[in-house]
Amino acid sequence: MLPEVIERIEAACERSGRQPAEVTLVAITKGHEVPEIRQRVLAHGHRILGENRVQEWRAKAAALGPEVEWHLVGHLQRNKVRQLAGVHLIHSLDSDRLADALEAEAEKRGEPFHALLQVNITAEATKYGVAPRDAAALAAHVRSLPHVTLRGLMTMAAFSDDPESSRPVFRDLRRLGDRLGLPGLSMGMSADYEVAVEEGATWVRVGTALFR
Ligand SMILES: *Cc1c(COP(=O)(O)O)cnc(C)c1O
Repeated sequence: MLPEVIERIEAACERSGRQPAEVTLVAITKGHEVPEIRQRVLAHGHRILGENRVQEWRAKAAALGPEVEWHLVGHLQRNKVRQLAGVHLIHSLDSDRLADALEAEAEKRGEPFHALLQVNITAEATKYGVAPRDAAALAAHVRSLPHVTLRGLMTMAAFSDDPESSRPVFRDLRRLGDRLGLPGLSMGMSADYEVAVEEGATWVRVGTALFR
């Protein structure tokens, strides 16, 4: 339930000496139908939503209208960038070529894209994201693009029953963000968002916990 997730975010802030206003909950709605999203998310006054896939996002964005702030959190292919008008923040920028495609599209539209670099901290466990050692070069490239605004870093921890197993991953992302001068951090999902908040998350991406 969304109110409980908000409470838990606030408690994690309290434990770690942070302000709740520093943390934005992105309600991940993938796999859920529009009426359910209205009931479980929008009815609580929450308007910041995320989807994994462009196709699914477009259908829901059309149905839910302009009040929603949409985040795209899934792997993005270059041939989809033409369809991204209206996305507030892309969490999954992970290559120079994707950055260049976003730049070209944004320039054409005359409106910038805002993006996070997805970093593959746990190299063995997840498929997408730039390797930590390549993150500085990608950040420099994105910063050279006039129509793509770099807002921070994103990562996914390996799936585990123990949220503490995510802590070193989140800590590594925060250190990398410190080194690159990027305080914005998208990290933490249903299984580990409280740990992520304790470690400095500024966006948490929570889906399953909102719908059970
Ligand atoms: C599905 C998804 C989430 C949310 O995961 P839950 O475990 O359902 O909270 C977060 N981030 C990404 C990239 C996802 O695909």
